This record gives sequence, structure tokens and C-alpha cells, in this order.
Amino acid sequence: MLRPIVKFGTPSLQTPAQAVTVFDAALHALIDDMIHTMYAAPGIGLAAPQIGVPLRVCVIDLSVGERGGEVITLVNPEFVERDGMQLEEEGCLSVPGFEVTVPRPGRVVVKGQDRNGHSVNVEGSGLLARALQHELDHLDGKLFLDRVRPLQRSVIVRKIKKLQRSDRW
Ligand SMILES: [Zn+2]
Repeated sequence: MLRPIVKFGTPSLQTPAQAVTVFDAALHALIDDMIHTMYAAPGIGLAAPQIGVPLRVCVIDLSVGERGGEVITLVNPEFVERDGMQLEEEGCLSVPGFEVTVPRPGRVVVKGQDRNGHSVNVEGSGLLARALQHELDHLDGKLFLDRVRPLQRSVIVRKIKKLQRSDRW
């Protein structure tokens, strides 16, 4: 089932999400919905708060479903290593139409659980490191806009508010 993606201005995007403690059919349905919603958007990553669900779950697929078996599902993820630096343009399905250059670690290692509660480790550099950092930020109630210069952020927020006022957001 496709779920509506909430946009900047929705409280769930700025609220830290809760740890998952039950790995049941409802969690599996949520994860499947998130994967379908990410592919339909289309996007390379989606976090549960982006569909209004305050749980620490995210999905990433750099191939957007083009290559089978590349989807990464992470439940309760956390960083165990972060090093290096990269500067690339980044966007977000919850902030459509705005791409900003965001500084991120060049390489990360994340540990978490899969949909059944089994431990998983994911190591990524380049785009995967960026996607992991972006999605884990969502689980902490942070957006990529919180990682750019304050002036740049306020310019974008002003543009979004203008769109909201004219009902185009
Ligand atoms: Zn995002």
C-alpha cells in the first residue's frame, strides 16, 4: 500500500522516533509499504517519520528498485563508525524541489536490525554513506536543512512558507 509522504512543516519530521520493540506482521506491512512508497516517489531512501509513523525504521535502495535485492531495511539503526567528508547535492522527498550541498561523512558503518529483529551491519561510502546519514537523521527528527548554513536554511524555509501560504506545498 502506498502511504502519503509528509512534507516539511509536519511535526513528525521534527520529532525523534521511538525504538521498535515488536517484530510482528504489522512491522512487516509497514516496511513493505515504505519500500513501495519509496519506489513510487521515486526515491533512494525513506524513513518511517516521513509517512507519519514515529518508529526507528528506514529503507534505502540506491537502484530505486531497478536491481533486485538491493533494498536495505534498517530497524533501530545507529552509527558505529563515521569518518571522512564528502560534499554533494542532496534532496529529500519531504522537501521536494530543493537540492542543497550538504557536508556528510565519506564513510559510515551502521548497526541495526532487520525486519525479523536479527542484527545487521551496513558499511557504506559515497552515496550510500550519504543516504544512511540522511535517513538516520530523519529518525532523530532532523532534516538535511538542519545541516546547511543558517542563512541558506532560512532562505529555503522562507520559500517553503510562501508555497504553504499559496497552498502549493
Ligand atoms: Zn529525507
